[in-house]
Amino acid sequence: MPVTSPFPDVEIPDVDLWSFLFDREEPSKVDKPIFVDVIDSKRFLTFQALKRASSSFGAALCTQWNWQRGDTLGIFGLNDIDYVTATLGALWAGATVSPMSFTFTAKELAFQLKNSGSKAIIVHPHGLSIVEEAARQVGLPSSRILLFGEAGRNHAKYKNFSQLGCSSLPSRWRIEPTKDVALLIYSSGTTGFPKGAKLSHTNVVANICQLSAAEKAPPSPGYSPKLLAFLPFAHIYATTMLMFLPLVSGTPVYVMPKFDLEVCLRSIQEHKITYVYIAPPVALIFAKHPLVDKFNLTSLRGFLSAAAPLAPQLVKDIHKRLNVTTKQAYGLSETAPTVTIQQWPNALACRGSIGMLLPNHTVKLVSETGVEVPPGQTGELWIKGKNVFMGYHNNEQATKDAFSEDGFFKTGDIAYQDLEGNFWITDRLKELIKYRGYQVAPAELEATLLQNPKVADVAVLGIYDERIVSEVPRAFVQLAPGLEPTQELGEEIAKWMDSRVSYTKKLRGGVQFIHEVPKSAAGKILRRVLKNKYGAQ
Ligand code: AMP
Repeated sequence: MPVTSPFPDVEIPDVDLWSFLFDREEPSKVDKPIFVDVIDSKRFLTFQALKRASSSFGAALCTQWNWQRGDTLGIFGLNDIDYVTATLGALWAGATVSPMSFTFTAKELAFQLKNSGSKAIIVHPHGLSIVEEAARQVGLPSSRILLFGEAGRNHAKYKNFSQLGCSSLPSRWRIEPTKDVALLIYSSGTTGFPKGAKLSHTNVVANICQLSAAEKAPPSPGYSPKLLAFLPFAHIYATTMLMFLPLVSGTPVYVMPKFDLEVCLRSIQEHKITYVYIAPPVALIFAKHPLVDKFNLTSLRGFLSAAAPLAPQLVKDIHKRLNVTTKQAYGLSETAPTVTIQQWPNALACRGSIGMLLPNHTVKLVSETGVEVPPGQTGELWIKGKNVFMGYHNNEQATKDAFSEDGFFKTGDIAYQDLEGNFWITDRLKELIKYRGYQVAPAELEATLLQNPKVADVAVLGIYDERIVSEVPRAFVQLAPGLEPTQELGEEIAKWMDSRVSYTKKLRGGVQFIHEVPKSAAGKILRRVLKNKYGAQ
């Protein structure tokens, strides 16, 4: 029998995302800062200011750029309060927003620009040279590049997106919430290259509603709840939970451009942050790094960790050191993202669990033969819910493969449910490697490595590196005939690769030579065989 959530179902309104977020003003909150720049806290946005600025930018897109419903806008940059305005402004205009990872090389960015069909890109000035190169590669005119962020004002060549503002609002496109794509998030899914997961307005609105029912800031007597945002806004975890959800909960978000330990600790101390969303490698830092002791972190009440498995010991270590609870959530780009979450009272006792199903979800745990497993046993997690994506952009086959005949989304993660209703992830069936929460698609690295004439064949797998509590990619290389495997050659191949891929995709797990890459009769890499033999992920 499929499993449902212990939480009662919530109503999912049939509205577009911008209207859902802004046509719900609570007078007590509209004038309080909701997004604050941690570096310059005089730079902030109130709910009201964000509503005004985003609609003004959206209106300018429509009137000055003739923006059509469903046109795609890329966003490439560090976190910034302007990132939020640009995203919401594009949504006002009926655009599809495709956030692009700020770790990308020009080639990787060009791939997403082209594949997503982006008509324009908004970029933080620090990423301008990469965008210019990517735009050149895909033929995007420079008039379609806009800047955001303080450093992007008064640029000699490019306009800042806020300069496009529009004082009178034209009528908006009529958006069909279940059909129009709000976000195009790149994910490799269970296999192959990154693909654009299409999240409709309803998908995202649904997840915000589901989260609102089950995700609460930890109790913080004496302090008003405040969030710290260093997780990249381009990752769906931060997009939904740090850019959209706070507009509903009213919890102020202190925005950091990116993770920097000292800035993070100082911000918690100065702004009396109570709640921080993290990925497991940051949990390790809070558990072990000596700098943590140098700051007053007494306002801190909780961490939420997601995007990759969290070692239970870290939850214990953080609690012992800081008297702070860490709870875990689980989700995917394809589910907008959150599927399960822990509750504060049992997070410490149930460490390692990903918690309970959010409302409006039905899931199954399924064996390799597609049969539901008996209660308590492990199987692949299949999900149904209004937050489950529409399919992959221009990729019918991958979309078909992602769903079962009875309409469940196959996550590629192996899990079980205990008697109390908590879920536990035990393994990953799909090819995906998670480096510090970032997706790394083995197929992409393999395709690059095969361009090296010294590599006859290759399989890339994740290896768990305990020092950074993260998987790292390792290449299992079959050398071209006549070459001898040596340490120097392994280092040479890893270095060759370093110059071709972004920072998250480097072969931090090294190169291991093998006699032959094991393959099925159909030529598919037998990753399980390698995994069992070499202990990879
Ligand atoms: P992404 O689409 O980048 O969010 O990646 C989704 C994948 O990250 C999932 O399918 C899981 O494999 C992994 N993941 C996310 N959260 C967790 C978690 N709490 N524990 C274990 N794996 C996770």
